Amino acid sequence: MDFEYSRDQQAFRQDVRDWLAKHLPPELCLDDPADDRVASNRETFERRRVWQKTMHAAGWVGITWPREYGGRGLGLIERVIFEEEYAAARAPVLPGGMALNLVGPTIIHWGTDEQKQRHLPAILNADEIWCQGFSEPGAGSDLANLQTRAVERGDDFVVNGQKVWTSGAHFAHWIILLARTKPEAPRHQGISCLLVDMTTPGITVRPLVLMTGHRHFNEVFFEDVVVPQANLLGPREAGWKVSTTTLMYERHASGARNPIIQVAALIALAKELPLNGGTAWDSPLIRQRLAQLAIDCEALRTTRLRSLTRQLRGEAPGPEGSTLKLSGSELGVRIADAAGEMLGMHALVNQPTSVVPDAPRWFNRVLAARQYTISAGTSEIQRNIIGERVLGLPKG
Ligand SMILES: Cc1cc2nc3c(=O)[nH]c(=O)nc-3n(C[C@H](O)[C@H](O)[C@H](O)COP(=O)(O)OP(=O)(O)OC[C@H]3O[C@@H](n4cnc5c(N)ncnc54)[C@H](O)[C@@H]3O)c2cc1C
Repeated sequence: MDFEYSRDQQAFRQDVRDWLAKHLPPELCLDDPADDRVASNRETFERRRVWQKTMHAAGWVGITWPREYGGRGLGLIERVIFEEEYAAARAPVLPGGMALNLVGPTIIHWGTDEQKQRHLPAILNADEIWCQGFSEPGAGSDLANLQTRAVERGDDFVVNGQKVWTSGAHFAHWIILLARTKPEAPRHQGISCLLVDMTTPGITVRPLVLMTGHRHFNEVFFEDVVVPQANLLGPREAGWKVSTTTLMYERHASGARNPIIQVAALIALAKELPLNGGTAWDSPLIRQRLAQLAIDCEALRTTRLRSLTRQLRGEAPGPEGSTLKLSGSELGVRIADAAGEMLGMHALVNQPTSVVPDAPRWFNRVLAARQYTISAGTSEIQRNIIGERVLGLPKG
């Protein structure tokens, strides 16, 4: 593949950069030290929603979505360029990220015309924030073990069960839910996918707090929750296939943010951080380690470009997305480990100090990096997928 950007693509990059420089409020980049996909509180969340609306009005949301659904119909390369510039500007993750990256594309793929018209515009302009109700206490890696039931009653389903680790459910208006509609069928064949309004009576959201103190995800309980059959996404009992579409997009999105920004920040920090009468940067061991991380980031970037080939052919992201997800999240842990070792006791301080002005970001990075090797499918599961479905190895 050609790694040079065309003149049009370079012009597009300049447009993104100029627009962000002019419109991105600086306080938005600073107001959430956790640097997390889920806003740390309601105020931050609402500020980010306003920001998504501003971006949408200017045509920067859903840039690869088809025009007929309110997107800009641009190519994947433009999306990569956009994400690189967006990350470089330290702009916050959009509150509608889960819907923009996972739910929307799944609705585009599987939804009825009515569902598309109902949800896609609202997803783009942040009127609808979504969460993903797949995992359960007994169904994580082994998702087909899910026990939440949806029982037909007239024109509706009645849902009972529990989901867990549901990111951002406390802010979400809708949930994309997997539930068992045919318990007697083989595990993978008895599941359906439902679009559920989070204000429906019978839904309870309970927080689960990370060790950083951040409320990222939740338990979600369903007690006799009535969902119209019209909210089935895809055919009945095709939930496994529908969820596979969602997970492919999720793995691809999980590997999207290149951590070179973090390595660059770590290098800047090393040049200031006092160590043995000089700075950390004076240490050849530290410099070598940071150089290796920068090399790994570049390898990740080119791997990502390679994985785009399939999508450039107009196909949905394939199991190769697992390579990206695996290498991106494992690299995130290596960067966090390097930061933790370099910062020593400073890594435990969750507020800015004169020595480490950016301390909250590193505190959260060091403590929270591991989560990305679990969410969207653990590293072990990604290795299984790569082994079996990419390399064609026999099942272990
Ligand atoms: C930050 C975060 C956000 C999340 N957000 C969401 C969300 O929004 N919605 C949602 O539905 N879920 C979400 N999850 C849940 C996530 O998808 C699950 O945690 C994940 O799939 C693992 O499932 P589990 O936690 O039940 O672990 P388990 O499946 O119980 O796995 C435990 C350990 O066993 C290993 N293991 C399991 N099976 C195998 C196997 N076949 N081969 C090799 N090793 C194996 C795993 O790798 C892991 O190390 C989130 C998780 C995290 C950490």
